[in-house]
Amino acid sequence: MKEPKLGDMEQALSASSEASAISPFLLTEIFQSFEEAVVVADTNRRMVYVNSAAERLFGYPKDDLYGQETKILYADESDFSEQGRKRFNVAGRIAAENYRVLYRRSDGEQFLGMTTGAAMRSAGGKVVGFIGVIRPARSADQSLDALQKIHNITSDVTMSHDQKIASLLRVGLNHFGLEVAILSRISGDDYTVEDCVDLHGELEPSTKFDVSGTYCIHTLSENKTVGFHFVGRSEIQHHPCYKNFKLESYIGTPIRLGGELYGTVNFSSPLPVEPFCKDDYILMELLSDTFSFLLYKKRSEEEMEALARVDELTGLPNRRATWERLNELINQSNRSAQKLSVLSIDIDHFKAINDKWGHAAGDLALVKFADVVSGLGRNTDFCGRIGGEEFIFVLPGADVAAARKFANRLRQGLAVEPVALDSGESITLSVSAGIAMLERGESLESLLARADEAMYKAKQQGRNRVCQ
Ligand code: GH3
Ligand code: MG
Ligand code: MG
Repeated sequence: MKEPKLGDMEQALSASSEASAISPFLLTEIFQSFEEAVVVADTNRRMVYVNSAAERLFGYPKDDLYGQETKILYADESDFSEQGRKRFNVAGRIAAENYRVLYRRSDGEQFLGMTTGAAMRSAGGKVVGFIGVIRPARSADQSLDALQKIHNITSDVTMSHDQKIASLLRVGLNHFGLEVAILSRISGDDYTVEDCVDLHGELEPSTKFDVSGTYCIHTLSENKTVGFHFVGRSEIQHHPCYKNFKLESYIGTPIRLGGELYGTVNFSSPLPVEPFCKDDYILMELLSDTFSFLLYKKRSEEEMEALARVDELTGLPNRRATWERLNELINQSNRSAQKLSVLSIDIDHFKAINDKWGHAAGDLALVKFADVVSGLGRNTDFCGRIGGEEFIFVLPGADVAAARKFANRLRQGLAVEPVALDSGESITLSVSAGIAMLERGESLESLLARADEAMYKAKQQGRNRVCQ
């Protein structure tokens, strides 16, 4: 093995009587068996020693490195300059510190190196050289790979919303090498796990915590991405979150939706990890934006869907929604042998109301009907508008007698609550209703046809009455 040329450092060390007992060559013998790459440079940042792990990591034989500036190891010259300003200068005051930086191998491949760097001083305190111990961290390729995966998931039209959320949480989890991924919903003091991936399978969606006792409280108070790679040695080591969850590593970002806080996306593990780097913070922001986009899209779709099921004028379920809900209830009743009755309701002489008072008054009458009918039913009952002045009232659990009782209460309700017009005049509504109770195995069409038939009977018999 070629003797390392220690130059300045050797001279300085041998000049000190204290240090003369420790040979720098002895140190380098130890470094030789390190798994981490060790690079020693002189005060001009020219390499005077690299161990065999550094030769392997950077892909250069040591003779190609000795005498060269450490600049050739950096992927980005500005990082070389910045490290020079920060720590690798003779006036530097910073003690040994961990940091991550993007390096470049001899073949041009780049990688993130987790580095412990420090100045080497003589007994007199004079800086005589610099030392860096480097372990390869996540590669820049990995960040790019995560970005690619996020893009693929977001743009995959075959995946459901829930599948996308779960897949994105997994991408983050794998990227950070952590164990628990959470999409949280935060409302007031409540922190709810909305979706999660837990490699130990312990955490379940819907679990609730008091937000002040979670790691996310730090993310929220900073209102940005916050990461702790070793909580037990961090400024939050005495915070209740550490006592509650005993997680050593955490990285989390707030998710905002329509200008308001929605929750957080966060990744954590009971084990410490290497410090998070700039790329990690960027990736977290990107994940948060992606979740925000997906949640916004889902919310808009749900709003559209809800709008498509509601009658605009009265706010009652429209024909489609009524059919769907009634179908479900019929299936349920057929399975459980529970009773179910429906009323087919038609407002009497409605055309005459339009003709006499105008279309707007007719609209007002429909809204009034909806108000009265909504105030009368039980929680499980519902009324849908299926046509102009035609409604279906559904009474789960009710027999014919109960349905008749309800229909008569509705008639009374309408009689005592007339439609008040702006002109000061009022219209008293009346309805004709037909009852049908579900027969075992009967279809929706047959049930409604029977109810309609009964309603026509009520019309024929003079209106403002209930028939079956
Ligand atoms: P009957 O007692 O036999 O039910 O007589 P009717 O006049 O109520 O029955 P018909 O079906 O002949 O008339 C229903 C009227 O309801 C006709 C239509 O113009 C009116 N209509 C339907 N939808 C609306 C609406 O949204 N607003 C208003 N103002 N009128 C509507
Ligand atoms: Mg009608
Ligand atoms: Mg009518």
